[in-house]
Amino acid sequence: MAAHPLTKDAAAVLRDIGKLLPELEALYKDVHAHPELSMQETRTAGIAADRLEKAGFEVTTGVGKTGVVGLLRNGEGATVMLRADMDALPIEESTGLAYASKVTAKDAEGNTVPVGHMCGHDMHVAWLVGAATLLSKARDGWKGTLMAVFQPGEETAQGAQAMIDDGLLKRFPTPDVVLGQHVMVGPAGTVAGSAGPITSAADSLQIRLFGRGAHGSMPQASVDPVVMAASVVLRLQTIVSREVAATDAAVVTVGVLQAGTKENVIPDDAVIKLNVRTFDAGVRKHVLAAIERIVNAEAEASGAPRKPEITPLDRYPLNVNDETASNRIAEAFRGYFSPERVKHTGPAPASEDFGCFGTGMAGAVCVLVRRRQRS
Ligand code: ZN
Repeated sequence: MAAHPLTKDAAAVLRDIGKLLPELEALYKDVHAHPELSMQETRTAGIAADRLEKAGFEVTTGVGKTGVVGLLRNGEGATVMLRADMDALPIEESTGLAYASKVTAKDAEGNTVPVGHMCGHDMHVAWLVGAATLLSKARDGWKGTLMAVFQPGEETAQGAQAMIDDGLLKRFPTPDVVLGQHVMVGPAGTVAGSAGPITSAADSLQIRLFGRGAHGSMPQASVDPVVMAASVVLRLQTIVSREVAATDAAVVTVGVLQAGTKENVIPDDAVIKLNVRTFDAGVRKHVLAAIERIVNAEAEASGAPRKPEITPLDRYPLNVNDETASNRIAEAFRGYFSPERVKHTGPAPASEDFGCFGTGMAGAVCVLVRRRQRS
């Protein structure tokens, strides 16, 4: 039986991957050892631009601050955008590896923090350099325009929108399809994906509850924001358990609860920071409205002197994979890697700003990001 044309095409492009692997591994280790925080990815972007230029791409740097766009025009045909994110996280690496990060950097608030590639974006950079190099070498085997995009600031949900705001979808050809990837937990040597929702929408909020401070020995003179915050946290647990249908899914996690400085002083206010994950626009709307309702009602129940302040911190869109494109890619993967190595994965409660590119092409704004406030 003749090989499927997609399998033949993939084999032609990947012909030289063996020769390229040592160089890609060295690149991965180099990027891993030199991680950069969101929107500060100047070194990584420089490496990406250099590799794209060497592979014959037209390169534009500084798109959305540190983003890099490489174009390889190869005749009539579809424009395919491949995207890799470049940023690392403010987390100290404790792997003890020879190429472990020892880097510290100043974050957006001016704090010195350790930096590590804890989300695998170093791997994504190496993958996209590899794909761009191989596709450039195998130019006789495909037609169209390849657009390699190295995106900043995924971890803060800023980068995709920053690139769109800087003209990504106007200054360059409009992609017919946008492909992204992420390392994930699973057996080595397998790939996974699915059509439809693939990663959740995420909303982070800060809630400031206002009470009235007093000496700890005179609670009657206070409106205690500590008790108010405790009630809010407990009541928030009923949103998922009592208000979301069993067939739907949502997560509401309170990750920050802060109030007071001393055991015998009732403070003036309390701060809660929480994170919401949803897989459906209607569920998202309901959960966010329920949070607002509960926070305001608990403040009123406590006799708060002021309405609580609810501030959005960041927001990631729901990512929904196009069915036709997803099936075509899965078919190519099954043909090349063998069907056992290609898994189906349901939606993950992880979040990505990748979907902003699709939202942007539909003419909408994806995220309204406020600067994260110091906790
Ligand atoms: Zn990631």
